[in-house]
Amino acid sequence: MEELNPFKIAQKQLDEAAEIMELDPATHAMLREPMRTMIVSIPVKMDDGTTKVFKGFRVQYNDARGPTKGGLRWHPEENIDTVRALAAWMTWKTAVVDIPYGGGKGGVICNPKEMSDAEKERLARGWVRAVGRFIGPEKDVPAPDVYTTPQIMAWMMDEYSKIVGYNAPGVITGKPLEIGGSKGRADATARGGMYVLREAAKCCGVPLKENEGKMHKSYLELEKLEETTPSEHPVTVAIQGYGNAGKFAHLLIKKMFRNAKVVAVSDSKGGIYVEDGLQYSKTMEVKQNTGSVTNYPGAQQITNEELLEMEVDILVPAALENVIRGDNADKIKAKIILELANGPTTPEADEILHKNGVMVLPDFLANAGGVTVSYFEWVQNINGYYWEFEEVYEKLDKKMSQAFWDVYNTQKEYFDKGKDIHMRAAAYIVSIQRVADAMKIRGWT
Ligand code: GLU
Repeated sequence: MEELNPFKIAQKQLDEAAEIMELDPATHAMLREPMRTMIVSIPVKMDDGTTKVFKGFRVQYNDARGPTKGGLRWHPEENIDTVRALAAWMTWKTAVVDIPYGGGKGGVICNPKEMSDAEKERLARGWVRAVGRFIGPEKDVPAPDVYTTPQIMAWMMDEYSKIVGYNAPGVITGKPLEIGGSKGRADATARGGMYVLREAAKCCGVPLKENEGKMHKSYLELEKLEETTPSEHPVTVAIQGYGNAGKFAHLLIKKMFRNAKVVAVSDSKGGIYVEDGLQYSKTMEVKQNTGSVTNYPGAQQITNEELLEMEVDILVPAALENVIRGDNADKIKAKIILELANGPTTPEADEILHKNGVMVLPDFLANAGGVTVSYFEWVQNINGYYWEFEEVYEKLDKKMSQAFWDVYNTQKEYFDKGKDIHMRAAAYIVSIQRVADAMKIRGWT
């Protein structure tokens, strides 16, 4: 049976890269385990008068390059190994885009879909009271992730500010604009993916055409542009997941590229296919009104598994972990996989995809736009001076493009040395080297 424990997978990916780059044993040992792990119990008064105790986590994986940074997931199946893996991936993510952070991640086992706003607020504040001493703008900076929102970030920032006795917006990112959020943070994960995709398409024969003048326009402006259906030689796209990353990927890919056609999307209830392409505005309307994209009028119903195996040029996994595995990787027909989700592909699948010539843009490179704009948010909070959309997107474009070429050139460099490694291994090598250098210079190893 294939190993599906995310932390074991994260360790295996590290081990493989460490071997290729001949990493020294002490550095390797330090990077195999988190620096600090917190497991907390959070009592919350529920609306019905009972008290429920929730289990929460925060893992600070490595802070050699700066304060630990990473999101918080609220999910009924959250567990410590998933959080550990995600914290490790955050360490590689902040390193690959070269921002001055380490990696961390947190979570709470809960089902926010069944909680009232008042219960969510009490849980958010309870989590901060439980780990408050260990987070802070210079220590560890959380952010949103699966099922956590800007509103939850706002409650957490407020609770932390009350504990320390001053306004501390830099303790958390992904906040609403009214209290120190950054313009462009909302679509940053998908947007960063678009810049990586644009560069990658140049290298692997996918003729994606930029929509001139639209690459740095805000999603609010892009939303207003008329939706056209490209007729000749469209580049076809399937997106799995319609949360923050997936829905913005749908909007941005259509508006930033002239010839992209999104033919399939899905959410946790299932998927849909429309040969002529799915309209973003209509998909959003259906999702908002009915709770699922599957109610799109006239669409063919498909499963989440079928979506992955469709005949498309670009596949965008934007949901949860382990969806592309040893048992289905061979059936994937896309030329490029843009991993906006964290951990969608297993190591076994990576080998198969590489052998089949599929270019995988690995999660911690492809979805690093979120944390990069989080970094910009933190910089703005510390300076108390705020930027316009275009400034945020221009800086994001530079960071993401540079990261792509750093990884691509590393892959080429190893190829020239006789080692045919995939893009994930190359990304690991770039990031591990940066974290290892920081640890060495600090005198840890
Ligand atoms: N949760 C996002 C991620 O996995 C963003 C993290 C952040 O902004 O700190 O990258």
